[in-house]
Amino acid sequence: MPDCPNCSTWNPEDKTVCWRCQAELPRSQSRKLAGKRKLGRIPLHMWIALVFFVVMMLAAQCFAMEYTRLAG
Ligand SMILES: [Zn+2]
Repeated sequence: MPDCPNCSTWNPEDKTVCWRCQAELPRSQSRKLAGKRKLGRIPLHMWIALVFFVVMMLAAQCFAMEYTRLAG
């Protein structure tokens, strides 16, 4: 992930200019590896989303079980 050299804002890898200050971003090395090693390069927010999703699923299951117990 290239951080903006001007304002240190995080930018998506496919960006060439900063979304915040429009400064030009340094070219990342990911271009060479793009498409080859995608599996090992899952962005952090995807992991967070995945963990969040799993937790929500477990919580929903617990609630469903509790509800069934109360209702039945
Ligand atoms: Zn910037």
